[in-house]
Amino acid sequence: MPIGLYVHLPFCRVHCTYCPFAVSTDIRLQDRYTGALLAEVDARSDGDRVVDSIFFGGGTPSRTSRENLARIVARLRERFAIDDDAEFSLEANPEDVTDDAVAFWRALGVNRLSIGVQSFHDDELRPLGRVHGRVQALEAVRIAAASGIRTSLDLILGLPRQTEASFLETLETAITTGAGHVSLYMLDLEEGTALVRQIEGGRVSLPDDDLVASLYTAAIDRFAEAGFAQYEISNFARPGQECRHNLRYWRREQYLAFGIGAHSFVGDRRFANTRDIHQYIAGEREPVFAEVLGEGEVRRETIFLELRQAAGIHYDDVVRLCGEEGIEWMERGLIDGWLRRVGNRVAFTPSGFLLSNDYISRLF
Ligand code: SF4
Repeated sequence: MPIGLYVHLPFCRVHCTYCPFAVSTDIRLQDRYTGALLAEVDARSDGDRVVDSIFFGGGTPSRTSRENLARIVARLRERFAIDDDAEFSLEANPEDVTDDAVAFWRALGVNRLSIGVQSFHDDELRPLGRVHGRVQALEAVRIAAASGIRTSLDLILGLPRQTEASFLETLETAITTGAGHVSLYMLDLEEGTALVRQIEGGRVSLPDDDLVASLYTAAIDRFAEAGFAQYEISNFARPGQECRHNLRYWRREQYLAFGIGAHSFVGDRRFANTRDIHQYIAGEREPVFAEVLGEGEVRRETIFLELRQAAGIHYDDVVRLCGEEGIEWMERGLIDGWLRRVGNRVAFTPSGFLLSNDYISRLF
């Protein structure tokens, strides 16, 4: 079976107030970081693994220098058998997207750009600490779409200062940009982030939960009308524009991941690298986390990942994995309206997606 490759490029101009990812604002480290990353690629590759998806995520991969991106791509091509039609995604922030940059990334083999727009409103972007504003975001998406590269936008719902009108305007703008894919995430409040401290200190307030819930279901309807099918809880695509690499995560397919904080899934083992960039540069390769899932955990994970997808899970699989309790659970969900039937499968309804973790936890 082909595998996927994830490369974590952690450098960002600023550390956004809501961001819990493994990032560094010290761009002077990038050459040494790239050297350590190449050493990790050498150590983990085993010859001829066939690769059908690559994802450069971060951090802000578009902030990594062209020289270093080229070094990494060359090493991956040396060490793995990369399919000619492999999907190759790169995350970019709007301020980095120029005609010239897109041409360079395409020449490297990148064929899908994921742009971190988050919102098209300056007064929502500012509290997040984002570097870009509406004008730059529009220009970035215009450049990407005009170049013909597959383009995806990231948006966030539930932002400080976001209103019904502002969110719906962001949504309409995203739909009309020419992008073929949109990821719509709920704002995730992670302990320890600057945004959480601002909220706790009363300096920032968030939109009401009921409003956020109704905007999420409205977005699903609007995307559908505009020809974007929901294929996962947070992901919407025009036909053929689904992200193959992300589907791999939800289908429990294998991937190797390189760089700080990167999580791999190989054989039946999951493991993660250190998040400490200095340790990583010094050659630390010992996983900070490793596990082989037992039968019960595989069962739970399979159900959880399949139900994240709009295609849901086969009725027989719920019965096989959960027995009688699974049947009762599906019947309750269909009666109460948080599940729907899709042929011989069951899937969450839009309102079911909003509380999917709670509903799934009732199964175990
Ligand atoms: S640009 Fe992205 S990865 Fe970097 S700090 Fe901001 S949210 Fe985090």
